[in-house]
Amino acid sequence: MSGDTHEPVKTICPYCGVGCGIQVQQGDGPGDVQFMPWGGAPVNQGRICIKGGAATEVVDHEDRLTDPLIRDDSGEFREATWEECYEFVVDELERIHESYGPDSMGFFGSSKTMNEENYLLQKLARRYGTNNVDNCTRMCHASTVWALRTSLGAGAMTNSMTDLREECDLFWIQGANPGEQHPIANSQYFRQAVLEGATVIQIDPHANKTTRSFQIDDTERHQHLQLNPGTDIPLLTIVLQTILEHHEANPEDGWIDEAFVEARTEGFEDLKETLADVDKEAAAEECGLPLEKIELAAEKYASADNAAIFTGMGMSQHACGVDNVQNEINLALITGNLGRPGTGVNPLRGQNNVQGTCDVGAMPNVLPGYQLVDDDEARTRVENVWGFEIPDEPGLTNVEISHQFGNAVRGLYVMGENPVMSEPDATSVIERIQDLEFMVVQDIFMTETAEYADVVLPATTWAERDGTVTNTDRRVQRMRGVDKVHENTKHDLEILSTVGMRLFDDGAKHFDFDDPEAVFEELRQVCPSYHGMSYDRLGEDGIQWPCYEPGDEGDPFLYEHEFDTESGKGHIEGISHTPPAETPDDEYPLILTTARLEEHYNTGTMSRRSPTLNRQTPENFVDVHPNDAERYGIEDGDEVVLTSRRGEITVEAQVTDDIKEGVVWTTPHFAAASANVLTNDVLDERAKIPEYKAAAADIEVG
Ligand code: SF4
Repeated sequence: MSGDTHEPVKTICPYCGVGCGIQVQQGDGPGDVQFMPWGGAPVNQGRICIKGGAATEVVDHEDRLTDPLIRDDSGEFREATWEECYEFVVDELERIHESYGPDSMGFFGSSKTMNEENYLLQKLARRYGTNNVDNCTRMCHASTVWALRTSLGAGAMTNSMTDLREECDLFWIQGANPGEQHPIANSQYFRQAVLEGATVIQIDPHANKTTRSFQIDDTERHQHLQLNPGTDIPLLTIVLQTILEHHEANPEDGWIDEAFVEARTEGFEDLKETLADVDKEAAAEECGLPLEKIELAAEKYASADNAAIFTGMGMSQHACGVDNVQNEINLALITGNLGRPGTGVNPLRGQNNVQGTCDVGAMPNVLPGYQLVDDDEARTRVENVWGFEIPDEPGLTNVEISHQFGNAVRGLYVMGENPVMSEPDATSVIERIQDLEFMVVQDIFMTETAEYADVVLPATTWAERDGTVTNTDRRVQRMRGVDKVHENTKHDLEILSTVGMRLFDDGAKHFDFDDPEAVFEELRQVCPSYHGMSYDRLGEDGIQWPCYEPGDEGDPFLYEHEFDTESGKGHIEGISHTPPAETPDDEYPLILTTARLEEHYNTGTMSRRSPTLNRQTPENFVDVHPNDAERYGIEDGDEVVLTSRRGEITVEAQVTDDIKEGVVWTTPHFAAASANVLTNDVLDERAKIPEYKAAAADIEVG
């Protein structure tokens, strides 16, 4: 790996999508890996949040997998050699292919792993003959990617943290919590703009660190719209209609940017038609908010010079997730808040490489660079570089693969994912995963999913590997590793490369790479927006895609002149409300919603093993409004049983008016009581993202 073992190496924090640079230094002993700040890091200039500062704690953790494991005839794991494991994995992949066909395998990539690794995994799946390859973006922003890609052109943040800090006058933060989930972006970028006068409109059922960091107390300047979960469409419909009505009466105010709408969009008439029948009073009641408050927010957005929308999983994780984000796009397009600094529709990505994992094609419907698998021309372009045929039908998504365990899907290849905790209705996932004939897991710890595997392959951590990751504002950055902590572990790339070379007759031709840079060189040949990059050009600052040619500097914001759609226009669409699949009833009278904590990370595989992070919050809990607590006889700190149609968890109650009355709020991080035991696995029809954010629930003192 790169660098002198005692010189610090510059790399990227493995947690959220902000992409903060940090340094890692190898100490004298093989397991001694230390964190150091990186003062000149391009995104964070040396500043770091609690997760980044504690990131090295998992690298030499005592739970690390150190040797390959195979499940023996008694059902127990035993240590095995790499040779034995490779042979077993290849034999099983061949058997499943021969017995059931290539679409009976599923491949799960991960945003905890790098661009090169996800690129090679999806290539392995496609060489195997299936497009059944997906990654955890399916669980977080698949609907956002879908809406942005189809209506604007690229499934990514339209703007960047820098231009938003410098130019934005109003932050419209809907279903996102940067104060907690993207702390350095929030403090270094967004808060600076607010200190210089920018306004914040926060839309979330839960008051949180974002509310507190901007001191949003519904003063004249900032507003928190604490809506009912699953009512973002009625809320945005009121906003759009208010802007439309005002513009008809006062066109001189310019709330609608007529020139922009005329020249650069299509579909405005369709939107107007949909809005014509809206009863604003009834919609506000559905949101659980006074109408005037929503109208005031509309006025603030429409009259700001530069308004930027931040969209998070509160929007995307719904069965109407694509529609939710499309309505945000509608708002930005009719007001002309796209295509210039300080504006845009900006998904805040939750994981270190969730943007890149999609960019490099670890998805069932797109190849690297979001080229559709069912587009003959695009597929042929990639086939010409790869030298083999790619299946021409989109494959199954993560949750669809999981729904088919033991039926259409007989085997699963998992790299760095933990589906038995990350997927909704987790108890049924555990039941179904045991119906698989074969599962291989590559990971750094014995995850809850690896417990059900046939083969567990010990991988190296983020601090021990080289490669690239792509952050939330499209910045491709290099990660650099120190020496391996455990000799018998292997880098994900080496494992995939070896499996690929052994599995196929022509494997050496397609999977023999000396190092991550060689993989990146191939990736850029098939991914147009990365084509102008190289490891040398990325250097220490990285490059924000698109970077089509070697001379391109990359783009801090997109769509200055035209959108990347077929017509070159931004697509506006009238959206009708679809309520959550489950609404409260006599049996389950509350709405359950879920979110993450600052000090934990997704299924907690790493953060629960980090003493610094786990000390902050060692167990799950549920937020209950004081009026609901009184109704159910719950005192602050009581043990309560939270139930949904799918199961129950026992957690401590926090009685707080942070949460809206009638709503309970909990987290997915803890294996002993995960929110995903309760969540609903109903999917958005197009993006196939599950509805984590709204389920009917009940609560009682335990
Ligand atoms: Fe890491 Fe995100 Fe914190 Fe930066 S803000 S240190 S990337 S977790």
